[in-house]
Amino acid sequence: MGAGPGDPKLITVRGLDLLKTADVVVYDRLAHPSLLSHTLPSAEKIYVGKASAHHSMKQPDINAVIVDRALQGKSVVRLKGGDPFVFGRGGEEAEHCKQHGVPFEIVPGVTSAIAAPAYAGIPVTHRDAASSFSIVTGHERDDSRESGTRTAGVAEQRRQWGKIAHAADTLIFLMGVEALPDIAQRLQENGRAPETPVALVQWGTWARQRVIVGTLADIVERVQSANLKPPAVCVVGEVVNLRSTLQWFDNLEQRPLFGKRIVVTRAREQASGLSDLLRAKGADPIELPVIQIRPVEEFSEIDKALLSLNEYDWVVLTSANAVPVIAKRLEALGLDGRAFAGTKIATIGPATAQALKEQLGLRADFTPTEAVAEAILEQFPESDLKGKRFLIPRALEAREVLPETLRERGAEADVIPVYETVIDAEGAEALKTEFENGGVDIITFTSSSTVRNFVQALSPQDPSKAAELVKNALIVAIGPITANTAREFGLEPHIVAEEHTIPGLVAAIESRYIKEAIHA
Ligand code: SAH
Repeated sequence: MGAGPGDPKLITVRGLDLLKTADVVVYDRLAHPSLLSHTLPSAEKIYVGKASAHHSMKQPDINAVIVDRALQGKSVVRLKGGDPFVFGRGGEEAEHCKQHGVPFEIVPGVTSAIAAPAYAGIPVTHRDAASSFSIVTGHERDDSRESGTRTAGVAEQRRQWGKIAHAADTLIFLMGVEALPDIAQRLQENGRAPETPVALVQWGTWARQRVIVGTLADIVERVQSANLKPPAVCVVGEVVNLRSTLQWFDNLEQRPLFGKRIVVTRAREQASGLSDLLRAKGADPIELPVIQIRPVEEFSEIDKALLSLNEYDWVVLTSANAVPVIAKRLEALGLDGRAFAGTKIATIGPATAQALKEQLGLRADFTPTEAVAEAILEQFPESDLKGKRFLIPRALEAREVLPETLRERGAEADVIPVYETVIDAEGAEALKTEFENGGVDIITFTSSSTVRNFVQALSPQDPSKAAELVKNALIVAIGPITANTAREFGLEPHIVAEEHTIPGLVAAIESRYIKEAIHA
């Protein structure tokens, strides 16, 4: 199966379907790791990564593992970067399956040969510049080192540079970084003009994409001084000039957060909305599910309340996390949204209102303009709360300001915990590694509990150490309450969003970088 060139959204629909149900996934380093989050929790994930000089698993062992698992009756996905039949050894692996009586199917993928140039703004054909393209390998066989048989003589004999140089208007080399000096020289020797434009696109379609542009005459020097390493696609031909007009993916005007590594500390279930928005602005979100949302184990209290909802004047939802739990309990009780018929609903912010609409088909009666508990109280549509009954289904640990103030104003408030947030150990470990490697530009906090859990995950014994670890990153809080919690842990927010929503948070980060770009 082709994983596509990197951008995790460039996998095919067929590929994704199979990934979601596979028992075993055998993958290498050019497939984006976040694709693995689609797999079943029970799936066996086998890394057989390849960096051109040191293979972590040799081809015969890869073949063996695929066939072995398949013969155990398991469904195996062999996930490969780009397209499996473009220098991907997909053919060899399929042959091996065939020999052992393992049935297979081929899921093509978007190849880096075309997609990496596309993300650099280089079309491989163009009516004015090229009517053909050719995809060529920079190594004759990429196992030459592995088997120790590489000799320049033999490899060179198989390469007919006279033909390659004129095979097409656009020449695309894969695995060509190491051999670049050779490629540039041979093409010129065989009649390609020294001023022919050349581009190298490293990590094409990934948020860490880098592009170096030059000519056959100077590209080697440029690539060396930029210290550009594999993986990269090398494109040779007039089409490279179109980048000056068509550059989009790494265009900072269009996508101001390009290349920024941003930690998203929402719980796993909620991370993707924020990540998608950041990605659309060019950022590379690092999803660290520091907290997980877990429904409480004991449902008797919430069930009782849901069975007598008409006794409440208002249900107040202080987080979207409560909505799926309520939906599940209604279902279990044989009820549906009509149980809310006599009751009004307040939601703390638009995301909660939307969850309510999507998951229960209900419209919120009231949502304050600012998503904090204080705003619910200040802007509440009824002024006389005496004797009114409120139901507040929420997290096990939460601030008391809402129920306490309601009670002060003469209302009755039933607080019922319906979910809790817990630390995700795997996510915590990954988080530490990211910071130790110094690869984080920005940290986002979307609630006080994400701050607390983040700090606890990074440094469970000594919370003050967390601030030290993250000192080079920009800290962004969704609103003033979250910002205060961050300060309590010595994490002074550099940005506090004016609008306390996920889009508001992204807009705040963006405007900071736009301003920086203008000043720079
Ligand atoms: N089957 C893959 C190619 C595998 S060969 C495909 O269709 O894309 C490995 C080579 O592919 C690398 O050396 C590099 O030249 C290229 N490559 C793969 N992914 C790439 C990416 N995201 N950016 C740039 N080059 C990439």
